[in-house]
Amino acid sequence: MRFLPYLVILICSAAASAQNAGQKLTVFLITDAEGVGGVCRQDQTDPKDQEMRQLLTGEINAAVDGFLAGGAEEVIVWDGHDGSQTLSTLTIHPKARLLMGALGPSMLMDRHFSAVAYVGQHSKANVRGGIMAHSYSSLGIQNMLLNGKPVGEIDVIAAMAGHFGTPVIMLSGDRAAASELHEIVPQAEVAVVKEGIGRYTCISLSATAARDLIRDTARRSMSKIGSIKPYTIPGPVTLQVEYTTRNSLPIEAESRAGAEVLDDRTIRFRGKDVLEAWRLYRAR
Ligand SMILES: [Zn+2]
Repeated sequence: MRFLPYLVILICSAAASAQNAGQKLTVFLITDAEGVGGVCRQDQTDPKDQEMRQLLTGEINAAVDGFLAGGAEEVIVWDGHDGSQTLSTLTIHPKARLLMGALGPSMLMDRHFSAVAYVGQHSKANVRGGIMAHSYSSLGIQNMLLNGKPVGEIDVIAAMAGHFGTPVIMLSGDRAAASELHEIVPQAEVAVVKEGIGRYTCISLSATAARDLIRDTARRSMSKIGSIKPYTIPGPVTLQVEYTTRNSLPIEAESRAGAEVLDDRTIRFRGKDVLEAWRLYRAR
């Protein structure tokens, strides 16, 4: 009973942050393929690969179950892997909503979701033991730096969510991806579904075990809403993108707004905040 007032405060603060947004308690679930249990080879990441689709969908649906059990009123799932052509409304959790297609520079975070989570997430480029580790493009991008720090999707998405006041509460993926999130959001709940021995060598949980773990982790993470602070990075913000040799900068790169060309394959954008830097980078 001693702890009851504490509990009430926790519940109230979670409810308050959802209320802040003047909307339902909504989890925005970012999904990818390379961090899914049982996916360890490049050929498995083809969006049409039937086994990968089942493995990914199973993990997503387990996460949705967990979020709903933990109090979420709505879960929006973004099909974030390779051109948004991997998921289907035929197989997605009946209570989830599926977001298909490319997102704009704000990544839809201007909707001020109650929380953001990742399923199937891989680590940033150049991480030892990161299964198929890359930052946005394994063929096109060698390295990406946010305010001088090497980053991948985990940091960029967390910073964009944080810019709009939304915390990251949960991630499932390989061990390297989990460590990467914990570096910036130590309190986030993580489900490690596989361990990288090398880029294409992994020890994975079974699909059943991965789903059970993800369901539990997602449910638990809901209680962190209100206590996990949104991850923010101080402005002004620089975003430096180092492309691969075969993807050198086009001849007109110098004329891009807010950009500084550092060498034949490296460009740096400067914005007042992460949203502006990302918008300059994404402007074509
Ligand atoms: Zn990715």
